[in-house]
Amino acid sequence: MPEKNMSVNLLDNIRVVLVETSHPGNIGGVARAMKNMGLSQLYLVNPNEFPSHAASSRASGAGDVLANAQVCDSLQDAIADCDMVVGASARLRKVAWPQLDVRQTAELAMSKASHSTMAMVFGREDSGLSNAELDLCHYLAHIPSNPEYSSLNLAAAVQVFCYECRIAWLAEQAVDKQDNEASGYKFEQASSVQMEGFYAHLHQTLIDIEFLDPEKNARFMRRMRRLYNRAELDVKELDILRGILTATQRQVRLQTPEAKNV
Ligand code: SAH
Repeated sequence: MPEKNMSVNLLDNIRVVLVETSHPGNIGGVARAMKNMGLSQLYLVNPNEFPSHAASSRASGAGDVLANAQVCDSLQDAIADCDMVVGASARLRKVAWPQLDVRQTAELAMSKASHSTMAMVFGREDSGLSNAELDLCHYLAHIPSNPEYSSLNLAAAVQVFCYECRIAWLAEQAVDKQDNEASGYKFEQASSVQMEGFYAHLHQTLIDIEFLDPEKNARFMRRMRRLYNRAELDVKELDILRGILTATQRQVRLQTPEAKNV
């Protein structure tokens, strides 16, 4: 089946960033994994050796991905123009980064890809990503591997992420096709990641308008979740609700303290 150009571009909005890769062969393996799954945007932060014969030879037919790879001096540079950054981690961390699994990451990437760029960041072969690097990520993503031996080879980890992106992209294509064939209303249920974004936005807005006390809100938010989950919102309805929240926040910001006291 021929691939639609619009959807090919969606995969172009997902960027793979490799931080300080030691083995050039892994860079080639990553390029190949990406191209097999239809991704093309590779960024390399301070690679140990690049360009290199080992990388080109492992890349095989994906030499174009290597040739177009951007080499950067820092992770900040590599993600500067990205709207969403996900750090891939071989270990589940106890601390505060919000975590996704690899499938949720791909769904999130697809939901954002039409209007923004997402980076998936992969760490060093020996030590992964530092805490300072993870602090630059909006989410941490983990492949649910064997807990007793959880660390995949770098190129294998990238392969799994790119595969999930491709599956999510193919599903998107199937939905587009149905949409074109059917006339009338298309129901596309909001994903759990999108619902989480909405709940965070609702929570913040209710604090901004001084409806909620930030200290005492857990039970209230649980009720809100129950209410909205029952509604099984679709993506367009969620967009409308978020638009209302954004407009509400804007109005609160526009009000002067005096106006608020009236
Ligand atoms: N020894 C390192 C892992 C290095 S593997 C550590 O313990 O952190 C190189 C990179 O591949 C990791 O930084 C991560 O980005 C990715 N990776 C490997 N296994 C992974 C897994 N199970 N889930 C998500 N990413 C993984």
